[in-house]
Amino acid sequence: MSGLRIDRELCIGCESCIMTCPQNALFMEDGKAQVDRDACVMCGMCTDSCPVEAISIEKSGTSPMGEAEKGDVWAFAEITDGEIHSCSKELIGKARELADRLEAEAVAVLVGGDSVKPLAGTLCRSGADRVIAVCGEKFEGLFEEEYAAILGKLIDEKKPEILMFGATELGRSLAPRVAAKVGTGLTADCTILEIDEEKRLLKQTRPAFGGNLMATIVCPNHRPQMATVRPGVLPMPQEDENRKIVVEQYDTDVPKPLKELISVVKAESEAKSISDAKIIVSAGRGIGAKKNLALAQELAELLGGEYGVTRPLVDLGWSEYTHQVGQTGCTVAPKLLITCGISGAIQHLAGISGAETVIAINTDKDAPIFARADYAVVGDCVEVLKELIAQLKNK
Ligand SMILES: Cc1cc2nc3c(=O)[nH]c(=O)nc-3n(C[C@H](O)[C@H](O)[C@H](O)COP(=O)(O)OP(=O)(O)OC[C@H]3O[C@@H](n4cnc5c(N)ncnc54)[C@H](O)[C@@H]3O)c2cc1C
Repeated sequence: MSGLRIDRELCIGCESCIMTCPQNALFMEDGKAQVDRDACVMCGMCTDSCPVEAISIEKSGTSPMGEAEKGDVWAFAEITDGEIHSCSKELIGKARELADRLEAEAVAVLVGGDSVKPLAGTLCRSGADRVIAVCGEKFEGLFEEEYAAILGKLIDEKKPEILMFGATELGRSLAPRVAAKVGTGLTADCTILEIDEEKRLLKQTRPAFGGNLMATIVCPNHRPQMATVRPGVLPMPQEDENRKIVVEQYDTDVPKPLKELISVVKAESEAKSISDAKIIVSAGRGIGAKKNLALAQELAELLGGEYGVTRPLVDLGWSEYTHQVGQTGCTVAPKLLITCGISGAIQHLAGISGAETVIAINTDKDAPIFARADYAVVGDCVEVLKELIAQLKNK
C-alpha cells in the first residue's frame, strides 16, 4: 500500500514535520517522528519541511497495468437521506456500459450502517453485477477520512481498473483523498466519459482553462483510473427487476476518527434545486428585460416545471444563482428544455448535455444553440412565450 515512510536513522527529532502537518497525522515516539497512517492524506507537506530528507512518500500502483491485471469497473454508491443518490445510479449505468465494453464486472461499493444494506438491490437492478457492502453499525456516520481509509484498503486488495464518484459535496472531498492514498490520478468534474477499449484507457472529458475548452484526460500509468462525474450529465439507467442481486460483504477496521460531529443544524430555507426538474424553461440575454423573465417563469409553471437562466442574467441581478444552468451553475437533465434567447455558449451547454428534448427559440438562425436543439424556432422569444402561454391558458 502507498504510504509515508520515515527513515528513523535520518530523523533528528526536530518536529518540523509535526508542526507542518495539517492533518495532525505525525507524532513523536522515542524522539523520532512517527506517522498515523489512517490520518495521513499524503499531501507531502512534511516531506518538504524535513531538513534532513528523512520523509518520503511511497506509492503503489505506479507501474502500468499489464494484461493480467485487468480489473472491474467500480462506482461509489453515495447515500443521502437514506436513499441512493441519483448521481450514483447514473454512475452505475456508466459502469455497466464500460464493464460490458471491457469484459469486466460493474461493481457498486456501498459503505454505511446496517440500514443501507437493503439498498444493494437497487444498485444491482440499476446495472451492478455485484455490490461490495461495507455495512454494519461501525460504518454508520463516517467522515471522508474514514471512508478514504476503507476504500484505500479495498482498492489495494481488489484492484479495480476504474473507480467513479459523483461530483457531489461528498464525492469532491472523498475522491482526491482516495486517489492520494492509492497513488493514482483523478480527473474531477467530468462531463463525458468514454473508453478506448484497445488500450483500456478511460477518456475523461471536463471543461478546462476557465471553461474555454473541453479537455480529454487519460491516466495511462496508474490504476485505478479515477474520475468524479457531475450529477445529471449521465443518463439514468432503467431499473431491471430481473437482474440478480449479488452482495459481497466486506469487513475491515474503522480508523480512529479525526473529527467529532457535535450537532447538525438544518438550514431554515433551502432553495429548491432545478437539477431534478423534468421540464425547464430557460431564459438568456435575448429575453431583453427583467420583466420578460416572468414570462419564462409563467410558462414553466403552466407546464409544471422550473425556470432556468444563463449566467449573465444572474450577473445582472435578474435571477437567483440557484436557477443558473451551466458549468458554474446547475447541471440539468430534464425531459423537456425550452431555451429562450440563449446563444448556446460552451459553458452553458456543459450544463444541459443530459436534456432529452431541446426546443430553442432564437432570432439568429445561426446561433450555436440550434446545433444542440431538437426543434429550432427562429423568432422573438418574448412573442413566442406570450403565444405559448395564451394557448396553454385557452386549453
Ligand atoms: C468560466 C466561465 C464560466 C461560465 N459559466 C457559465 C454558466 O454556468 N452558465 C452560463 O449560462 N454561462 C456561463 N458562462 C458565460 C458564457 O460564456 C456565456 O457568456 C453565456 O452563457 C451567454 O449567455 P446568453 O446566451 O444568455 O447570452 P448571449 O450569448 O448574449 O446570447 C443571447 C442570445 O439571444 C439571442 N436573442 C437576442 N434577442 C432575442 C430575442 N428577442 N428573441 C430570441 N433570441 C434573441 C441572440 O441571437 C443570442 O444568441 C461562463 C463563462 C465563463 C468564462
